[in-house]
Amino acid sequence: MPQSSSTRRRTSAPKRGLNGAIITAWGGRDLRLRVLARQEVAENFLRLEVDVDGLLDRDEVYPTYWLRLWFTTPTGTGHQRAYTLVDPDPGTGTAWLEFFLHDGIASDWARAARIDDEIDATVLNGKNPVEDSPTHLLMIGDGASYPAIADTLRRRPDLPATVLLERRHGEDPHTMPVPVRETAAVRWLDPGEEIAEVALEAAAAAPPGTRFFVALEGAPTRRITSGLRKQLGTPKSAVHSLAYWKGR
Ligand SMILES: Cc1cc2nc3c(=O)[nH]c(=O)nc-3n(C[C@H](O)[C@H](O)[C@H](O)COP(=O)(O)OP(=O)(O)OC[C@H]3O[C@@H](n4cnc5c(N)ncnc54)[C@H](O)[C@@H]3O)c2cc1C
Repeated sequence: MPQSSSTRRRTSAPKRGLNGAIITAWGGRDLRLRVLARQEVAENFLRLEVDVDGLLDRDEVYPTYWLRLWFTTPTGTGHQRAYTLVDPDPGTGTAWLEFFLHDGIASDWARAARIDDEIDATVLNGKNPVEDSPTHLLMIGDGASYPAIADTLRRRPDLPATVLLERRHGEDPHTMPVPVRETAAVRWLDPGEEIAEVALEAAAAAPPGTRFFVALEGAPTRRITSGLRKQLGTPKSAVHSLAYWKGR
């Protein structure tokens, strides 16, 4: 019997084109996520619980672990964007996706997502920044990397940390709480503040053995990464840096 429009499952499984072929050639593994629950935290922040298609039995979903999600453009082609899996629960085979919302196809998909909606995803991602238990973490991010940063702090309460986050909306610090503990210093910067300068000052004062996690828009990510390497002589292995989004 055909499903009624209210119960029909929406599935984002677009044509992936060359981008998809390259990711497959590099060893990307496919899965399909299914939405199980939806939490509207604020107008600009939404959480979706997803079934991760057995991923937690096959892979170590370490803090900052991310997937490539295949959103669909109005013409049916693939719009691939990265999202972080947080709070993975191997007992139920589920995790959460957290969307810092703005204009965009991925954000629009999340706004409209309902229980049982599905979306294709591919695993081809980075490295665990806390695998070898650094002495200290300096994490620099914004709304897009908040899920990765807060999840790392939740899952590694043993690691002393300094967190710098760029605020876009006044209420961001309330919408996006970072775990509070004696060994973690958290500072939210206003949009006008020069996050690269503040980050490099913090990096210069960081204890030996610090691991640096830098995940902002492209320009400040490049500026901080270059400052860490060239100005401060930080070894490449201590820097986990990736532009999380591109401004236009
Ligand atoms: C490894 C990795 C993990 C990520 N994890 C998350 C996550 O868990 N949660 C999350 O919300 N994002 C995350 N991001 C960022 C997300 O992939 C991008 O923000 C993406 O561009 C959103 O796609 P879109 O289709 O909504 O917008 P796009 O089509 O890419 O862009 C549309 C417009 O929105 C602007 N824009 C895009 N991203 C942002 C932003 N973050 N803030 C303000 N303006 C923006 C663009 O400049 C453009 O003008 C992650 C990125 C990476 C690389």
